[in-house]
Amino acid sequence: MLLNLRHIRTAHERFDKVYEPEAFPTDPDSFQVVAPVALGFDVYRDKDQFRLAGRVQATLETSCSRCLEAYRWPVDATFDLRYQPHAANSGEGERQIEEDDLTTAFYENDQIDLGQLLREQFYLALPMKPLCRDDCRGLCPACGANLNHGQCACKTEWEDPRLAVLKKLKTEH
Ligand SMILES: [Zn+2]
Ligand SMILES: [Zn+2]
Repeated sequence: MLLNLRHIRTAHERFDKVYEPEAFPTDPDSFQVVAPVALGFDVYRDKDQFRLAGRVQATLETSCSRCLEAYRWPVDATFDLRYQPHAANSGEGERQIEEDDLTTAFYENDQIDLGQLLREQFYLALPMKPLCRDDCRGLCPACGANLNHGQCACKTEWEDPRLAVLKKLKTEH
């Protein structure tokens, strides 16, 4: 998934590609790509500076933070990224990048890693606290049953665990 910058010869070129989900390594801790990924962008070249502006559409599978079940998360994101060459010897000559300028990245060896670009877009698109649905009822804290599938046999009212301990002590004496 490398964009060879030597092939970008004009000031503006178009890139469109669809990647199969198998092209993405699975990361069980965060998400899995479960459908073909459509990546399309315009490449603008200004000497050794490149700007990639486009869109990525994908379907990710992630797990709900409340009930832990896997569910699908559609991604339709636009991006506008600037790339400049990574200076071989960092130091005086290197241009300073503003710290808050998150849209500027570096490239090396005349190529841009589109796999990394996509991974970053996926991480940006995923919610901080993924929920399978807004009203996910989560897991029963006592038996671990998924309450979206129905009520478990546990007592529904929440009991303070400290009170429960006291009660237990009382009944034992
Ligand atoms: Zn859930
Ligand atoms: Zn339960």
